[in-house]
Amino acid sequence: MSAKIPVTILGATGTVGQKFVRLLADHPQFEIASVAASAQSAGKRYGDIVRWREGTPLPERVAAMTVTRAEPGIPGRIAFSAIEADIAGEVEQAFARAGVYVVTNTKTHRMDPDVPLLIPEVNPDHLGLLEGQQRKHGWTGGIVANPNCSTAGLVLGVAPLERAFGIEKLFVATMQAVSGAGYPGVASLDALGNVIPHIGGEEEKMEQETRKIFGTMSPGGVREAAIGVSAHTNRVPVIDGHLEVVSLGFGRRVSPEEAIAAIQAYRAPAEVAALHSTPALPVEYDARPDRPQSRLDIERGNGMTVTVGRVRPCPLLDLRLVLLSHNTIRGAAGAAVQNAELLVARGLVR
Ligand code: NAP
Repeated sequence: MSAKIPVTILGATGTVGQKFVRLLADHPQFEIASVAASAQSAGKRYGDIVRWREGTPLPERVAAMTVTRAEPGIPGRIAFSAIEADIAGEVEQAFARAGVYVVTNTKTHRMDPDVPLLIPEVNPDHLGLLEGQQRKHGWTGGIVANPNCSTAGLVLGVAPLERAFGIEKLFVATMQAVSGAGYPGVASLDALGNVIPHIGGEEEKMEQETRKIFGTMSPGGVREAAIGVSAHTNRVPVIDGHLEVVSLGFGRRVSPEEAIAAIQAYRAPAEVAALHSTPALPVEYDARPDRPQSRLDIERGNGMTVTVGRVRPCPLLDLRLVLLSHNTIRGAAGAAVQNAELLVARGLVR
């Protein structure tokens, strides 16, 4: 018998679900035990119905699996959730009630006061919310969320500066890849040769989630960080990778040299650095004047590194910079796998 922890993927046929299949196929601690999707897909062979969009071959073992409905009782002690947000609420709670740890990509539970909204490098202490969550609901499992894809890159990319200098104001404008909208997502006639200056709900998510992740754990829960955040979100004709331009205000003047030194010195806490999915450099500074670029830089750290460049003074706030992250890895499946690794490291899942 395998010593690996059996896991399930809810929404395994979708954009993020496929990324889970790819990332978990050779994972040292986890083994895909089941794949779940909607009632239309249930009962069919995964390999027959998935429109495989990954650049690596579909693993044969997973291709041969029969897709199940997303209902408790299917094999897996951890459920990686990548289902539609409007149905995720009840489905994820049902798994948690049944003793499964749900590691979710969906927005549904992210802002619940008792759900950790986690970036392991930034706020691993927020996992402390789980105990109260389990007590409140009487669950033996639990729900842990990773942030929205554009928030994940933003928060990790500026985390070295928040930690070193304390951010008071943050302005961000995004250029987000079409894969962020799932499959088939944005129609090609809307996306090609075009920029769409609206992504429903995204700006609110970036503003709220940033304050929660940078918040402080207290006996009453997470006290949100007092950071003023203004987000503008745009869809651009790029397949993968969210590029974001950011201006930051601090309590004092921070020079570009100080900021670059803080980014270059930034490392994950030892417990997090030891996780399989944590890259050697969670945030990497690139001094070249035309970097980072979506096509050239998203695969750094196996898609888990956020690249920061163009750190320079800002005439309105203090500093401005450009950052790039992989939206379906650091912003979705890779983030969730890393969160699950932290649950295992803490002894919550065995
Ligand atoms: P997607 O490509 O549209 O895939 C949706 C998945 O949900 C499919 O596997 C679908 O299965 C399944 N599903 C639909 N209705 C279901 C039901 N009633 N019961 C069980 N499964 C059901 O979407 P996606 O981009 O992968 O996104 C999935 C979730 O992750 C969303 O909540 C999204 O907001 C979030 N997210 C996405 C990204 C990204 O970059 N794409 C980043 C962060 C978070 P069928 O094939 O059977 O229909």
